[in-house]
Amino acid sequence: MTSDVLVLGAGMVGVSAALHLQKRGRSVVLVDRRGAAEETSYGNAGLIQREAIVPYGFPREFKKLWKYAFNMLPEAHHQWSSFFGNAVWLFKYWRNSSPERIAASARAARPLVERCIIEHRALMEEAGIVDMIRETGYLKIFRTRERYDQYLRQQEEIRREFGVGFEELDQAALRKREPHLSAGQFVGGLLMPDPVSVTDPSAVGKAYADLFVRRGGKFITADARTLEATTDGWQVHTVDGPVKAREVVVALGPWSDEVLKRLGVRVPLWVKRGYHVHFRPRGDAVLNGPIFDIESGFVLAPMTRGIRLTTGAEFAHRDAPKTPVQLDRLEPVARSMFPLGDRVEDKPWMGARPCLPDMLPMIGQVPGHRGLWADFGHHHLGFTLGPATGRLLAEMMTGEPPYTDPYPYRVDRFR
Ligand SMILES: Cc1cc2nc3c(=O)[nH]c(=O)nc-3n(C[C@H](O)[C@H](O)[C@H](O)COP(=O)(O)OP(=O)(O)OC[C@H]3O[C@@H](n4cnc5c(N)ncnc54)[C@H](O)[C@@H]3O)c2cc1C
Repeated sequence: MTSDVLVLGAGMVGVSAALHLQKRGRSVVLVDRRGAAEETSYGNAGLIQREAIVPYGFPREFKKLWKYAFNMLPEAHHQWSSFFGNAVWLFKYWRNSSPERIAASARAARPLVERCIIEHRALMEEAGIVDMIRETGYLKIFRTRERYDQYLRQQEEIRREFGVGFEELDQAALRKREPHLSAGQFVGGLLMPDPVSVTDPSAVGKAYADLFVRRGGKFITADARTLEATTDGWQVHTVDGPVKAREVVVALGPWSDEVLKRLGVRVPLWVKRGYHVHFRPRGDAVLNGPIFDIESGFVLAPMTRGIRLTTGAEFAHRDAPKTPVQLDRLEPVARSMFPLGDRVEDKPWMGARPCLPDMLPMIGQVPGHRGLWADFGHHHLGFTLGPATGRLLAEMMTGEPPYTDPYPYRVDRFR
């Protein structure tokens, strides 16, 4: 089998890239060892975060670093057994988290984030699933006046520079919006009206993959680590023999470095792991949209399977055993703020956000390797940005003028 492009990885990022290449006339083979959107793109909070222009930075103040190191804050967990593997990357992340560098990353992320809903909506219309979008906005709630005021000041700056809107909600407005929330625990909230959400991010990824196949794309099962260069392109091995193409896109999310390392390409990709569990709502309790408890560092989101609690970052090796201590710590907090019933599943789900130190994805050609392209490192925003980066990559690969300058996302920027 020979085609124009192999896209390795059928998460939200790879599926979106495959669709955009196909729309531009390329014959594409999508390669995964599992079904579409069954890894990191399965278990996220389902938010298309139109507001998330400024990336999460690593703490710079000594007091907060100390608390992170000794797991004193619920928003993050540091697995000490992964420390030696983690240390170099954490240092690079810390260095890239200075106010100047975070501002530079925000300016670079802006054109991608600005297109996130437009590009998702376009694919959803084509896939016939536009009713999956819910205009929920994104509600952030605060337990202390100090944190609220500090966050508000930051948001005002972000609104001035990037035009990201928000509304302030007092306790009465919180009650009106979420009648089953114990609003008395909170001093108030900020509603970001622009983000939208879905109740099953994996179903969106699968619907995009189905559209790709309906339009004549091939979705095959293979191990991407069998990738090798041929005289005129690239190939992966399957049980039925090699599958070849002129070009290849690495969109393997947190596993992208495994394939690149074999080709002698080193990238500073690391992960921030995260967990989720679902709860049945108690009685007739309804959660209308995703809520972020800022001080506790978790999201509660209404999903098809129940109310999904997703955790913040765990700094650990991608393949280290699960340590869902954040979930155990956060469950009582979540129960005290919303009427949650039994857990739906016995074991928590875990995923790994693929991160580069400047919290920008890598999109572009891999220097020194003809026909080898990168599309990974979407950190906290892979569900949000998959379609927007897929379009940019496809424009670059087909010689169309890109809708934004891809320079900030180049592969060799850390050399
Ligand atoms: C708890 C949590 C909450 C989150 N919430 C949000 C949110 O609300 N909004 C948002 O935008 N983002 C969110 N994210 C981040 C988002 O989920 C990720 O950025 C995104 O899923 C990454 O997509 P991807 O396609 O790059 O990777 P993946 O979805 O992991 O896809 C990679 C694919 O590569 C395949 N693969 C790997 N190795 C091989 C191999 N050797 N051979 C063949 N195939 C292989 C895998 O099977 C997989 O299908 C969240 C993440 C977590 C963990």
